[in-house]
Amino acid sequence: MARRRGEWPPDPEPLPVPVIDDHTHLESIPHVLDDGVPDPGMTGQLDRAAAVGVEAVVQIGCDLDSARVSVAWAHEDPRVVAGVAIHPNEAVLHAGVREVAPDGLPPQPLDRHATSLDDALAVVAELARDPRVRTIGETGLDFFRAGERGRQVQRESFRAHVALAKELGLPLQIHDRDAHREVLEVLARDGAPEVTVFHCFSADAEIAAECVARGYLLSFAGPVTFASAEDVRAAARVVPAEQLLVETDAPYLTPAPHRGAPNAPYLLPLTVRRLAEVRGDDLAGLCARLHANATRVYGPW
Ligand SMILES: [Zn+2]
Ligand SMILES: [Zn+2]
Repeated sequence: MARRRGEWPPDPEPLPVPVIDDHTHLESIPHVLDDGVPDPGMTGQLDRAAAVGVEAVVQIGCDLDSARVSVAWAHEDPRVVAGVAIHPNEAVLHAGVREVAPDGLPPQPLDRHATSLDDALAVVAELARDPRVRTIGETGLDFFRAGERGRQVQRESFRAHVALAKELGLPLQIHDRDAHREVLEVLARDGAPEVTVFHCFSADAEIAAECVARGYLLSFAGPVTFASAEDVRAAARVVPAEQLLVETDAPYLTPAPHRGAPNAPYLLPLTVRRLAEVRGDDLAGLCARLHANATRVYGPW
């Protein structure tokens, strides 16, 4: 029987050694579920993940509402630590820029965008002082949707997050979509935080090598399993094990062979297995290394 689009994929084979999902949006999962598909909630998702060797998560809140939820959840469940930021696409809306998106429609502002970008950044700075917040992110540049004014706003917002991460001594999680060179330029000019992570690394081996040389960490997500993403696999091969992380970016970017279905932390083993294959790493050894890297960067949980 064909699986309906939108149903939960079956559990993957458990990993031999537990790992950590270093970038997920658990609060967004209910919004992508088809009618009638069960929502296990935060605890249910974490239990299902733990059963296949995904022990803990970094829950990323990248707008005002989800940032607050992420901090609250990090206090509720010891398997969760939080990241907070204003996503580059959110920054544009807070700044009141209404440019036309690639689909031809202006982006839709929500109530929360009535807050100015400066005020939104001030809320993030306050939330970031909570001891359960372990990273500033995701921030960066997303040139996919942005026009010239939007890009300018994103740069300013990105630079404010870089400064905040340095002020608080927290790692930075970067969102980089179609803006690899520009992201590297901002980091070079302003000086990157001591620990800087490219979440859902999406560039090629050349950019990866430059990130490695600068000491950044690269976090790989579902695309490493996509047939079309040969560049990302080539990038994964040039990263020393000490600079590697893995993530789901759930509910988006569901790994193969379940593209189109919702994503959640329990599907991370599919990405980890493919990453080990691509790199020629022993699976258990890679898992142990990924776990150690995540606790070194964000932990202890
Ligand atoms: Zn992102
Ligand atoms: Zn994300």
